[in-house]
Amino acid sequence: LDTKSETENEETVKVAIRVRPLPSRGGGDDQCRGFQAAGNAIVELGDRRSIRGSVASEHIYDRVYGEDANTCEIYDSLVRGIVDSVRSGKNGTIFTYGQTSSGKTFTMQGTGDDSNVGIIQLAARDIFQSIADDSDNTSTSVRVSYVEIYNEELRDLLNNRQSSTSLTIRDDKKGNVVVEGLKEVAVRNLDQLMEVFRIGENNKSYGSTRMNERSSRSHAILKIGLEKKTIVQPAFEDKENSFSESTANVTVKTVSTLSLCDLAGSESVRHTGASGLQKKEGGMINMSLLTLSKVLTSLGQKQSGHVGYRDSKLTRILKNSLSGNSRMAVICCISPSSRYVDETRSTLQFASRAK
Ligand code: ADP
Ligand code: MG
Repeated sequence: LDTKSETENEETVKVAIRVRPLPSRGGGDDQCRGFQAAGNAIVELGDRRSIRGSVASEHIYDRVYGEDANTCEIYDSLVRGIVDSVRSGKNGTIFTYGQTSSGKTFTMQGTGDDSNVGIIQLAARDIFQSIADDSDNTSTSVRVSYVEIYNEELRDLLNNRQSSTSLTIRDDKKGNVVVEGLKEVAVRNLDQLMEVFRIGENNKSYGSTRMNERSSRSHAILKIGLEKKTIVQPAFEDKENSFSESTANVTVKTVSTLSLCDLAGSESVRHTGASGLQKKEGGMINMSLLTLSKVLTSLGQKQSGHVGYRDSKLTRILKNSLSGNSRMAVICCISPSSRYVDETRSTLQFASRAK
C-alpha cells in the first residue's frame, strides 16, 4: 500500500484519475459527443485517492478527482509543482490519457473560454508570471513547438508547409533526441503563447476531412522550452588578488522543457470493429500507449537497465523529458457511465501500472 503523503511532491511519476460528469440525459443539447446515451453512473469515489463501485480497484492513486473538480484544482494540486520545477531547470511532462470523450482535451485545453480553463493556459500563465518576477541578473526566453503523431508519423503543427511530410528524429552526439527542421516559435507572453497554440490547433484540421476522428487517433504534444540565463559575478575568495584578476561576469545557462501531451484515445480497435486503415491506426496507438506504459513503469520503479524509448515515436521525442531527474504527471480520464465499463477498467489498469 502506498502510504506517501500528498505533500511529498518530488516523486518522478504521479498518477491521477479524473472522473468526468455523465452527459445530460437525452435532448439535443448534449455537448458530449460520443456519448449517445448516458447510462448509469458506476464509478464511485472512495476517498480522495481511490475508486469504488463496480470498477473498484485496490489501487491507491496520487489523487482521484470527481466530476465536481475543475481543472484549476487539478492544476494546483498536481501540475503546479512540476511547472515550478521546470522553472528551476528540470524537465516536466503532463499527459492526459483515456478513451475518446473522457475529457482529455477538456483537461488540457479547457473549453476556450474563461469558464473552463485548461492546463496549457494555467501552466503558461505561471511560467510567464514567474519570469516577470525574475531578478535583474536573470533572463528567460521561451520557445514553443507543437507536433502531432498520427500513424507513427510526426507532423509539425506550427509549420503549414511541412505539414504533409513526416519529420525525422535523430540522436545527436550527446545522446539528445533532435527533431529535424522542427519549428520552434519564440513567445514573450501568455497571449503570444496561446496564439501560437491556436495556430497549431487550426493546422490540425487543415485538409483533414475526418478531423474529429483524426484528433482522437493522434497524440498532440506541445512543448514549452525555457532557456534561462543568469549572470553571476565570480566570487573572490582571496581578497588580495581580487583587483588583479579579471572581473568578467559569467553567464550560467539552464534549459528545461515542459511537455503537455494530449494522447490518442485509448479505446482499442476491438470495439469499433475496425478494419484496414483504422485497424492500422488502432494498432499504432496501442503500441505507442503500451510503450509509454512500460516507460512510465520503469521510471516509477527507478529500474536501471534498458528502457524502450525507441519503440515508439511518442516516447522517443519525449525521451529527454522522461528520463534523468524529470517529473511527470498522468491524468487518466474516465467516464462514470455503465456503457464504458471495459474502457474504464482498462484505463484504471493503465493508471495502476504507470505507478
Ligand atoms: P477527449 O479529448 O478525451 O476525446 P473531450 O475533452 O473532447 O474528450 O470531452 C468530450 C466532451 O465532454 C467535450 O464536449 C467536453 O467539453 C466535455 N467534458 C469532458 N470532461 C468534462 C468535465 N470534466 N466537465 C464538463 N464537461 C466535460
Ligand atoms: Mg480530445
